[in-house]
Amino acid sequence: MKIDRIALSGFRNYDEEAIELGPDVNVITGVNAQGKTNLLEAVYLLTGGHSFRTRFDRELIGFGCDWASILADVDSGGREQTVRILFRRGLRRQVTVNGAKKTSSELSGVMRAVLFSPDDLYLIKEGASARRRLMDNAISQLRPRYAKAVTDFNRLYENKTRILKDWREKPRLLDTLDEFSDGLARCSAAIIRYRASFAQRLRETAAPIHREFSGGREELGIAYKTVSTVTDPMASTEEIYYQICEHQERHRQAEIDSGQCLTGAHKDDLEISVNGTSARSYASQGQTRTAALSIKLAERDIFRAETGEYPVLLLDDVLSELDAGRQEFVLNRVAGGQTLITCCEDENISSRTGGRVFTVASGRIREA
Ligand code: ATP
Ligand code: MG
Repeated sequence: MKIDRIALSGFRNYDEEAIELGPDVNVITGVNAQGKTNLLEAVYLLTGGHSFRTRFDRELIGFGCDWASILADVDSGGREQTVRILFRRGLRRQVTVNGAKKTSSELSGVMRAVLFSPDDLYLIKEGASARRRLMDNAISQLRPRYAKAVTDFNRLYENKTRILKDWREKPRLLDTLDEFSDGLARCSAAIIRYRASFAQRLRETAAPIHREFSGGREELGIAYKTVSTVTDPMASTEEIYYQICEHQERHRQAEIDSGQCLTGAHKDDLEISVNGTSARSYASQGQTRTAALSIKLAERDIFRAETGEYPVLLLDDVLSELDAGRQEFVLNRVAGGQTLITCCEDENISSRTGGRVFTVASGRIREA
């Protein structure tokens, strides 16, 4: 999978710009605040998900513009497809593929990308939401039904939480509580089942990468953790659904008293360990970096195994954060697919990759 050409109009700090990308490594250099990350964000949006920087489409529209668009020629499964995303203030985004209207989640069938940014280096030390986001971003691109379950879950969760918080002022709200609980249990069950399989796959794929990377000295462990109500996350979704329903029924009053949803997929996490001890609590900086890198590279390999093609790999400013040995490891591993690497001008990354080099200045891109 690769992007042959991408054009941006009114997107972030890009007025009108178009570039042709190379099939392997593309280095995007430039001083700070010129539009390097904005370009990667545009590419990432082609996967149909949210931006990795904002939940709000309106922030993507350039200051003083009424709309923004991303237009890209994507080579996917040997087929050239033209993807266009239009963002308008106050309206939903509009997606077309070869001129035909699509939903955002349908885009995952056309374009897939794995992003690695400096934030991901802290993936392991951060709160559980960062690891849930990792799972959500990856699985959504592979399973459009998962993306839908997550969207539905978020909506139901917000509604149910509002009921649990506001019922004292508006007691009638409680009439609808059970309906929301049921919907939430259904979505949770689907999400939990998908995450359990993905986590297993991630462990199987990331562990050998981490082992190689650490010269055989370290064993990476990844375990999926969900609410204890669910005794076996690999059980059928029906079974998981029943267990969550049962818990919700038994704790109905407790939820009303505490004002919180007490069970569901919003509590999930990935437990990451190095040589059997919790990475979050004990791993050194180097170990957490190695683990994060192995997980991201594993994500890329899983996409390849699932779809037959490497996803587009987006490395935002991450190489400068890695030592020389780790940089080499990444640069050697990214062969075979299209990669966009951003870095500051003074770094000598461009000379080592042999790919195309672009310079970004004030929303203009020039090939070096
Ligand atoms: P760094 O090296 O610091 O990471 P960068 O080249 O990655 O820099 P970007 O994050 O791409 O920089 O942002 C470049 C500029 O885009 C910033 O100055 C920011 O103010 C501007 N910008 C962000 N959103 C918008 C918007 N909606 N409209 C116009 N400009 C915007
Ligand atoms: Mg940046």
